[in-house]
Amino acid sequence: MTGNSVASRIRLNDATVAQLLAKAGVDPTVLAQVPVNVGLIARTQRATPITSIKREDLPVDGLLLPNPQGFTISVNRGHSEERQRFSLAHEVAHAILSPRNPAFRNGSKHIRSSERDCESFASMLLMPNPAFTDFVRDYGPSLATITRLANTFKTSIRATAIRFVDVIGQLGVPCILILSQLSCQTSGRRLRVQWAHQNTLKPDGRPEFFIPSNKSVGFKSAYAAFGNDAVHAAREMVELGNLRVRTQTESVAFGRGSNRFVVTLVYPDAKHESQHSVDHIKTEK
Ligand SMILES: [Zn+2]
Repeated sequence: MTGNSVASRIRLNDATVAQLLAKAGVDPTVLAQVPVNVGLIARTQRATPITSIKREDLPVDGLLLPNPQGFTISVNRGHSEERQRFSLAHEVAHAILSPRNPAFRNGSKHIRSSERDCESFASMLLMPNPAFTDFVRDYGPSLATITRLANTFKTSIRATAIRFVDVIGQLGVPCILILSQLSCQTSGRRLRVQWAHQNTLKPDGRPEFFIPSNKSVGFKSAYAAFGNDAVHAAREMVELGNLRVRTQTESVAFGRGSNRFVVTLVYPDAKHESQHSVDHIKTEK
């Protein structure tokens, strides 16, 4: 659900999210515990009175709806535990970014909460800093780190991988995450790009690399990963859109049948290669 008040716009980052949570009365010690108790945050924040949290059969991920006492958050019980946690955090973001409590509306600036803002807020709420950045720094950049972080923070691989790419970019390590799926076309069975997320941005904030959707992926590590559930690493030539570099790739596959997809991490800048911790990863020859 989207917010109903538009008065100002803030740039969401770890600092502003922490300020908004503090303003909503969330105890900082709750935020410091990993995995984050998002249900407790929903019930204790005071920006919007959440009187009930339900797991239901829904046609959407989650909803924030008024009830006679306050508001109810419903999340889709058909989704994984990790995805339900993200949906709950997303609705908490709506509650805090577009407060429904008159005490919070009076005299205070309202914030426009877009769906995108709520996704960012939820990500920073579930994978808070400095804890998340400390783990990334300690474990080093790799797919194994993403899996470990997802287990630690109880978040989906996809949400964790996106947060990982953003955070490691802040640490000065460029990388691109590419999700691909097998498609059978007349040209044969090929892995094709479903989506990509990168931290290599141009000065105007737009992505440095253009990676077209549905583009055929040629990574050796991705095809090796498709065949089993191990992580595969390769030093190889990557040619995808305007990205052309000989570099390190790491891939791992998830799911079965038509739901099988491959996540590949690409490190476009070779000068960072020496920092990669790949000693525990099976390297493709
Ligand atoms: Zn929403």
